[in-house]
Amino acid sequence: MSTALQRAERPASGERPDYDVVVIGAGFGGIGMGVELRKAGIHNFLIVDKNSDIGGTWHANTYPGVAVDIPSVYYSFSYEPPKQWSRMFAPGAEVKAYADQVVDAYGLRSRIRLNTKVVGGEWDEQQHLWRGRTDTGEVVTSRFVVGAVGGLEVPKLPEIEGIGKFAGKVVHTADWDHDYDYRGKQIAVIGTGATALQLIPELADVASRLTVFQRRPIWVVPKADFPIPELAKNIMVNVGPLRRVIRAAVTLGIDFGISGVGVFHSYIPGVVKLAQRGGGALYKAQLPGNDALAAQLTPDYAPGCKRPSVSNRYLRTFTEEHVELVTDPIQKITKTGVVTADGKLRKIDVLVCATGFRVMEKGFTPPYPLVGRDGVELGEFWDRERYQAYQGVSVPRFPNMFLITGPYGFAAGSYLAMIECTSRHAARAIKEAGRRGATAVEIKQEPHDAYFRKCQKRGAQTMWLSDACADSNTYYVNYQGDPAPIRPSTHFEMWLGNKYFPFSHYSFTARPATAAAPVQLKTVGAQR
Ligand code: NAP
Repeated sequence: MSTALQRAERPASGERPDYDVVVIGAGFGGIGMGVELRKAGIHNFLIVDKNSDIGGTWHANTYPGVAVDIPSVYYSFSYEPPKQWSRMFAPGAEVKAYADQVVDAYGLRSRIRLNTKVVGGEWDEQQHLWRGRTDTGEVVTSRFVVGAVGGLEVPKLPEIEGIGKFAGKVVHTADWDHDYDYRGKQIAVIGTGATALQLIPELADVASRLTVFQRRPIWVVPKADFPIPELAKNIMVNVGPLRRVIRAAVTLGIDFGISGVGVFHSYIPGVVKLAQRGGGALYKAQLPGNDALAAQLTPDYAPGCKRPSVSNRYLRTFTEEHVELVTDPIQKITKTGVVTADGKLRKIDVLVCATGFRVMEKGFTPPYPLVGRDGVELGEFWDRERYQAYQGVSVPRFPNMFLITGPYGFAAGSYLAMIECTSRHAARAIKEAGRRGATAVEIKQEPHDAYFRKCQKRGAQTMWLSDACADSNTYYVNYQGDPAPIRPSTHFEMWLGNKYFPFSHYSFTARPATAAAPVQLKTVGAQR
C-alpha cells in the first residue's frame, strides 16, 4: 500500500463524501471490484445492490437446470479458486456459493448494503464527487462511483399481442417462481437461447405437455460435463501453478476458438463455414432418423453469432412424445393459450419467457440516469453518439466513474475474466488518483476516441457484423447496429490494455478549493 494512500483524508473546506467509492451491484462485477479495492488498499467503500442477497445474475437466475456454460475452472477469479464446485460445469447454486466464498474471503460482507436500489446519480463539479440517489430517497455521496450492474440485468418480456390477457401463470427465467408447482402442467416456452436450452429438458421432465416456440434455433454442442474428483479439486485449489497453467490453456483455447474466430473473421471466413457444416452434421448424428427435426433445430447463421451453448439433452428432448417444437410464428396470446400464424391455438397453463435481457439499450444500460459534467446524461450520450467507453471502463465527461461491463469491454469468454481486467483498471486509476492527491480522474478525449475508432474499425470486420450472422438477431449487435457488447479483441489484449494502460491517458486534477491540501483517499488499513 502506498504511503500517500495511508494518509488520512484532509477535507479542507470541501464537502467530505460519505465514501471514497460506491460500487453499484453486488454480483461478480461488484464483488470483483471490492476485491480490487481491498488489494489497492482502499477500504472506505460501499457496495449496494437492489436484491436481497449478493450474486447478481446468479441470485436472479435460479430456473431449473441453471448452470455455468463454460468450464468452471475458467468461470472463477484467478486469485480465488472455487472450493465447492462439484462438476466441470458448476450448477448455478454452486456458482452463487462461490460468490459468497469470495465475499467472505475478502471481508466484503460488511461493505455490502442490500435492498438498496440506485435510481440515479449526478456528478458535482464543485465538490468533485458523485451524488447517488436510492429508491428510498436517500442521497449517498462518494468520490468515485463504479457501475457493476452487469450486462444481463433487465429481463425482456416478449412484446406479443395479448400477453397481458393470459389467465395462467407467466414467468420469466430471470425471476423464477419456486413456489409454483409446475408438475403435470401444460407448459409453453418462448425462446430457444442459452437459457432455454438449459431449462427445456428440465421442464420436459415435469410437464404433462411441453410446447417450445422457436423463432430462431440455437447452436448447441455436447457438454463434456462430469463430477470433479475430490483429489483433482484439492489439487486445483491448492496447487496454484497448475491451476494457472490450466486457466491459461482454457484462455488460449477460447482466444483461438471464440474470440479469435469471431474478431478476426474477415481473415478466416472459411473456419466459420466449416464449423457451420460440421455443426449441422452433428445435429443429424444426435437425432438419428429425425432429419426433419434436426433441420428445424439447425440454425442458418454461423456458430458463435450468439452465445455458444452446451447440452447433452437439449436436442433429444424434442424427440419425447409430449414435447412439441413449434416454428410457426406466434400471432397472439389469448386468455387460455398461444395462437400461431396458422391460426392454431395451443392451450397452456404456464407461459415461460426465456426471452433474454435488454442489452446496451437506451434506458436499460445503464438502468438509471447518470449525469456527468456539463449536464451530459450517459444513456442519452450513448444513444446520440453510440455506445463507447475507453477499454469498456471509462467515458469522457464522466469523471471518477468507471464501468465493469461497459461498451467494447468484454472479450468473448468468461465474464469473470473480464471483470478481473476491468475492475483492476478502475482500482488502478483510483489508487493513482489517491497517490497524486487528485480529486478527479477522467479519461482524456483523444485516447478514448482512439480506442473507440479501433473498436469500430475492428468491429466492422468481425463475424457479428458479417453475412454469417446476418439473420442471427444476436444481442452482440445492439439496436444501433454496433457490436458494442463485445470487445473486438483477444482476451490477452483485454488483459494487457486494462493492466498497463498509461496513466497519461487520464487527467488527474485536484478540486480548486483544496488544491493546497489535496484530498487523499481514506484508508483503514489492509484487510484480509
Ligand atoms: P437470448 O440469448 O437473448 O435468447 C432469447 C430467446 O428468446 C431467443 O431465442 C429469441 O429468439 C427469443 N425471443 C425473444 N423475444 C421473442 C419473441 N417476441 N417471440 C419469440 N421469441 C422471442 O437470452 P438467454 O437465452 O436468456 O441468454 C442470454 C445470455 O445469458 C446468454 O447469451 C448468455 O450470455 C447468458 N447465459 C449464461 C449462462 C451461463 O452459464 N453463463 C447460462 C444461460 C445464459 P431470436 O433468436 O429469434 O431472437
